[in-house]
Formats: sequence, C-alpha cells, structure tokens
Amino acid sequence: MRIDLHTHSTVSDGTEPPARVLAAAAEAGLDVVALTDHDTTAGWAEAADAVPVTGVALVRGTEVSALVGGVSVHLLSYLQDPEHPALATLIARTREARQHRGREIVERLAVDYPITWADVAAVQQPGTVVGRPHIADALVVLGVVPDRSAAFDGLLAGRSRYYVPYYAPEAVDVVQAIRAAGGVPVFAHPGADGRGRVVPDRVIEDLVEAGLAGLEVDHRDHDAAQRARLGELARRLGVLATGSSDYHGAGKPNRLGENLTAPEVLGRIESEGRTPVVRA
Ligand code: AMP
Ligand code: ZN
Ligand code: FE
Ligand code: FE
Repeated sequence: MRIDLHTHSTVSDGTEPPARVLAAAAEAGLDVVALTDHDTTAGWAEAADAVPVTGVALVRGTEVSALVGGVSVHLLSYLQDPEHPALATLIARTREARQHRGREIVERLAVDYPITWADVAAVQQPGTVVGRPHIADALVVLGVVPDRSAAFDGLLAGRSRYYVPYYAPEAVDVVQAIRAAGGVPVFAHPGADGRGRVVPDRVIEDLVEAGLAGLEVDHRDHDAAQRARLGELARRLGVLATGSSDYHGAGKPNRLGENLTAPEVLGRIESEGRTPVVRA
C-alpha cells in the first residue's frame, strides 16, 4: 500500500486541478492520496468524483494555517466534517487574511516592480486560496523571476522587505477546532527550519495535550537527523508518525509518493475521523 497524505491543487497553491492530482497519484502508483489544500475544503467534491475514474482512494483534508507565539505553522486536518462551524469559521477568517496580506505584498512590490493585483488575479481561478505562490506566478509572467522557487529564494522570502505575514489562529485553538469538527490533527513538517523558526518540543507537547494525533516526520524539508529526532518524539509522546510529499504540481520539486505513510497509521486516522475515506 502506497499512501501519500499531503498534496495541493489549484484550489490553493498547487498547479493542477483536484481531479488531475488524483490522476497523477494513479500514475505515481499510489493507492491512497490525501488532498490537503491550504485553509479550504473547496477541492473535495472534484477529488471525490475522480476516485472511481482513477482507482486511487481519497483522504479528504485541509492544511490549516496557525500561529505559535508568532511563528507560522501548518496543521493537517484529516477527515473532518467540512460543515462544522468550529473549523470552517477559523479557516474562512484565514482566507480573508490571506487576501489582504497578498494585496499588501503586491503593494510593496509595486514600488519597485511593474506588478498590480490584476496580474495576481490573472494567474488564479476565482475562489482560490491566495498565497505567495500566486504572486510568484505573476512575477514569472511579468518576467521578473524565472520560476516560483526563484521568487521564494528572493523577493518573496520571509526575510524580504516585501514580505508581509498573515493573521492565523493559535495552534492550540486549531487543534481543538479540528477535533471538534471530527478531524484528525497532524502537525505538518514540524522541523522545516528552511521556512523560518521552528517550534520547541514543549509546544508540540502542549498540542498533544490539546488533541494532536501525529507528526509529519517524513517530509522533504526534514533531513535524516530531524526525521530521527521527530520519530523519537512521536514515539515518546505516543502519537502517529506520517510521511508525505507535500506535492504542489509543477510549483515545487516535490514528487508524489516521495515519502509515504504506513497503512496502520492510516487505519488509526480513519478510525478517529468523522468523514469516510472515499474508495473506488
Ligand atoms: P504562503 O502560504 O502564502 O505564506 O506561501 C507559502 C507556501 O508556498 C507554502 O505552502 C509552500 O509550500 C508554497 N510553495 C509553493 N511553491 C514553492 C516554492 N517553489 N518554494 C517555496 N515554497 C513554495
Ligand atoms: Zn502550499
Ligand atoms: Fe505547509
Ligand atoms: Fe503543504
């Protein structure tokens, strides 16, 4: 069983529509894939419709933005009730904050580069959860940078003078909201220090107390030492350890199935989640 529990589509900042992500998962030889777009469940229906076509089983999820002491972190929610207001209202507020923050970044860039919000709107579909990747795509179209990664290495990096953070709820509140909505919360790439500061173990312990079910241990942003440390931490805290690609289509080098989750771990997630896994 090949199981990849973290992917993005055009509903957020991936480059392929949800149905295409499932088709790509079939081509990559996956048996199960989770669609986990940022702060939205808008891709779930299209992805579910692609299950009988592709034969790939679908775990419906969301990558929820959060803050811990001002540090931006991501919490994966699996198999929640998408209508439950506890989580739905939190992610709706974050989507609003992302819109405002996107415009602020573009205003800062516009001082030095010929970019307007219309350029960003032109590279995304209506209703997309906006992020820096869309601003990067607009910069590519304008010929300012060659690709997304170049934009993230320079103009859109966290240390850039054009960078603006966005409001997100506290991580403990997000974990509790995910559980209230019947979801299973897993801390996404908790050791990804390439993206900025990482949280100390104490914070992870607090999140486990609040209901955190697991840590995403096997992820491209973790080196061997981090994987060993986080795997040991998961064991010590008695929570699940997952592995995933964090696929963004052509927007990032991450390839489907480059990290996998064990079938027993998926079994635990499924038994704790309120929404079923969609099987062909
Ligand atoms: P934001 O959520 O707006 O702060 O933007 C960060 C997001 O951009 C993360 O989810 C990354 O996975 C995503 N991203 C997409 N392409 C890239 C890339 N080439 N380099 C770094 N991050 C990227
Ligand atoms: Zn992303
Ligand atoms: Fe993430
Ligand atoms: Fe992600």
